[in-house]
Amino acid sequence: MAGIAKTNCIPMPERRQAGLCEVICRMNHSCKANAQYFWDDQKGLEVCYAIMDIPKGEEITVCYSEITSGRPLRHDVHIQHGFNCQCKACTTSSPEQLAQSDKNREELCEIIDETPTLLQTNGTIAIKRAKRSLELIKIEELFGLAPAQYYDGFQVAVAWGDQASAKA
Ligand SMILES: [Zn+2]
Repeated sequence: MAGIAKTNCIPMPERRQAGLCEVICRMNHSCKANAQYFWDDQKGLEVCYAIMDIPKGEEITVCYSEITSGRPLRHDVHIQHGFNCQCKACTTSSPEQLAQSDKNREELCEIIDETPTLLQTNGTIAIKRAKRSLELIKIEELFGLAPAQYYDGFQVAVAWGDQASAKA
């Protein structure tokens, strides 16, 4: 019973709980997922939505691991879930491209972590880093992170009076 719960529950950090969702629990993992889920307080439901165009017939995937993690950390999470990830991000690139992808995700994670501090201390660098984060999201196809990064970038630009960047 505990094994079924462990492998089928999805985290609901917004509610500090985990839940068994009949449909979402059946979705497979990809490190370049095409869908994402979140708790919708107004609906009282866990909701899944596409984060990119999904061609008809293509499997809907979500990411089980921390999306900005490099392959070694993602691999550990995959092993905990009992599989060896064969997604596009883990298998279809050369070793050099995979290493670059790890660097990109690491840089993206750093930007996300440093944004609150930069917002307070250095608007020029904060805006530059926000734009870089959006480039990295496109390169890595981590579109689920885009809304929060656009929002953070907007906040930084407004706080530092950069109307052109805020508009962009
Ligand atoms: Zn993968």
